[in-house]
Parts: sequence; structure tokens; C-alpha cells
Amino acid sequence: MGRIVMKFGGTSMAGTERIRRVATIVRRQQEAGHEVAVVVSAMAGETDRLVTFCREANALYDPAEYDVVVASGEQVTAGLLALTLQGMGCKARSWLGWQVPIQTDDAHAKARVESIDSAALTASMAAGEIAVIPGFQGVSPAGRVTTLGRGGSDTSAVAVAAAVNADRCDIYTDVDGVYTTDPRIVAKARKLKNVTYEEMLELASVGSKVLQTRSVSLAMKAGVRVQVLSSFIDDDAPAADTLPGTMIVSDEELAKIQEGLEMERQLITGIAADKNEAKIILTRVPDRPGAVATIFSPLAAANINVDMIIQNVGRDKGETDVTFTLPSSDLVRAQALLEAQKEPIGFHRLITDGKVAKISVVGVGMRSHAGVASTMFRALADRGINIQAISTSEIKVSVLIDEDETELAVRVLHTAYGLDAE
Ligand code: ASP
Ligand code: MG
Repeated sequence: MGRIVMKFGGTSMAGTERIRRVATIVRRQQEAGHEVAVVVSAMAGETDRLVTFCREANALYDPAEYDVVVASGEQVTAGLLALTLQGMGCKARSWLGWQVPIQTDDAHAKARVESIDSAALTASMAAGEIAVIPGFQGVSPAGRVTTLGRGGSDTSAVAVAAAVNADRCDIYTDVDGVYTTDPRIVAKARKLKNVTYEEMLELASVGSKVLQTRSVSLAMKAGVRVQVLSSFIDDDAPAADTLPGTMIVSDEELAKIQEGLEMERQLITGIAADKNEAKIILTRVPDRPGAVATIFSPLAAANINVDMIIQNVGRDKGETDVTFTLPSSDLVRAQALLEAQKEPIGFHRLITDGKVAKISVVGVGMRSHAGVASTMFRALADRGINIQAISTSEIKVSVLIDEDETELAVRVLHTAYGLDAE
């Protein structure tokens, strides 16, 4: 039979009762004949609590000690799940990051996985022992505990799946799959059977919070088949092996799945909204070579990711306005950096707006079709929604709008692209 890596999020691990549910789901996979490894998150809210302790202890905390503290949440749930499985008569043991080991670089608090030594893990799995691995944590070249950035357990799960050559990585979460858009905004949103890595990457980076973005790029690189499915299932629910959730697959696999299906591929796969965007306008920047570089170099040096950029047509006197967006959490820092560079940049005024949202439509289908963007602009215009900035990629069109119009825009676009469920 196969080898499956299962991952459970914080909501599924929050308390003894829920961990018992998780253990039942894990045992069922083993009974289906699979070798099983489980990656777990800390209990919901626990990592936030630990982060607060670090801040209280020392506002300028050392990231290496921060990692020691925040990695503990997953150590607790991994041990508890192993204990619970043992109580149900299963063979199980926990493997902390340094015990596997899961080698990372030394970028504490946002470390990257470099390699996983899977020999001991696979031997134990082959012997019928369930391997329980705390997500989010690894070990640095210097032998110190590291963490992979918030939401990093998804990445741990995909990395483990790649290392043990798993047939599938099942990510159990509090939604039962990936939807055409947030079902809390659009009641007619539909669950997708399949979505490609690239689409998922775009959706994850523009506000769909189902998976950590980095886990998706890793899955794409390593070719790990990922399924997103619900952890709140009844005993008579369809088995994970029947793929009840959303499968994240390559373009080629998707083409194979859709071969012979009558239905034509949807032009748009999903719509995402991101309210964590802010806008900065610099007015009357000198219209000369190097001007834009002077603006963005200090931001890049401070690790601030700029997203949409518009440089308006030069007005008279060789001046131009430059508008761009960035994560709201970086707005204050960016503003300070730019004000400090007012002289060299030579702008007149700095205007900020935190009340903006980015709406993105995503789909590999748009590669071969014209008119996707114009449908979007027309649909928004018909509802009087003003577009403040636009950016595109091969499989995505994003617009920046007033944050208050987010829900309306998503609903209108969901209908315009024919995504509403019957
Ligand atoms: N517990 C960590 C967090 O809350 C990692 C995770 O759950 O994915 O960010
Ligand atoms: Mg998560």
C-alpha cells in the first residue's frame, strides 16, 4: 500500500478531545494499509500566546531564543498525539525536528528547510510505527532550534512528504477544500476538485489563507501531491483515499484528469481578496533615470516587499507621481524610511492609504484566452467600483480598490466569470 503524510492544523489539535478525533482519523489511514507519518501544529492560539511572552520578556528579542520558546507548542501536541495513539493500541512515537533531523538554514524565526534525513523515519514507518512530527520546527547548522515562519507546519508536512517519498500529503484543516472564493463572502462559492500548483501559489499569495505560500512552492518543486481536506468528518465520511478534498496537482496531471471530460476548462479558477495591502503615493518625483531606484532601494534593504507599482505619465516640469502598494504591516516603517530620504528622492508629498484591498482573479485558463481583464474591468465599472491600480501575471489579474467594496467586488466577479454554484 501507500505511504501517506497527514498534517493537522491548530484547530484540530486544540484539546484532548480533538486530538482523540485526530488519532481516530490517523488510525483509519493505517488500517487502510498505509505507512503513516503525521505532522502537527500547536493548539490554536498557542503560538500567539508564546510570541506574546517573548515580547514581554524582551521587546528586542533574540530570534534564536524566540525559536526555543515558540517551537514548544508543537512539541506538546506531537507528544500528546503519540500518547493518544498508543492509548488506542497503535504503535506511535514522536520525532522532534532535531531528532529526525530536519536541517534548516540559520535564519531564525523564518528558517528554510535544507534537507531531511529520512532513513530512521522510513524504517520506523515501515515497521508499522506511526511517526508523529511537530511542524514548524527544525535545527540549524549550529545545532540550535529553528522555526519556519508563521503557518510553517504546512511547509514541514510537504518537506517530510518529499523526504519520505510519500504518495500523498493530506492537509487536514477547518475548511474541506479550496473554494472558488471565500464561502463566507459568496454563499455560492464551489469547492474545487483540482487546482494546479501555480494557481494555488497565486491564490495563497493574494489572501487565500488555506496553505502557507512556501509550502505550495515546495510541493511544486518537489512534485508532492497535496490534498486539502476537512478534519471535521463523521465516521461514515468518504475515506481520504477517495480524494474528497481538493487535490493540488501539476498542469500535466490536471490535463490528464480532464481528458475525456466533456466540460470545458473554466477560464478562472478562483478569486481572492487581500485587505492587508496599503498604498503609498509620492507626488512630483523628478522624471529622470534613477529616480525610481532611489525610492525602492531603501525599501528593499529593509526587506519590505513592494507589490503593485504605477508610475504615471510625466507631467509638466519633468515630474511624475509614483504609486505603489505594500503589506499594511510595513506601512509605518516604509513611510519613515521614505520621509528620511525626501531630499535625495526629491518628492513633494507622501500620501498613504491603508484602506485598500487587492482583488485577484486566478486561472491557468487565461493563458490561452483574451478578454479576462476586460471582463473584470467591465463588471467592476458596472457596479461603480473604482480601480486604483492594476497588475497582471500570466495567470492572474489583480486590481486595487477601496477596502469597503471588497465583498461586493468579489461577489460581482464570481458571477461575471460564471463561477456561482447552481
Ligand atoms: N503554530 C505555528 C503558527 O501558528 C505554525 C503552524 O501552525 O503552521 O504559526
Ligand atoms: Mg495554517
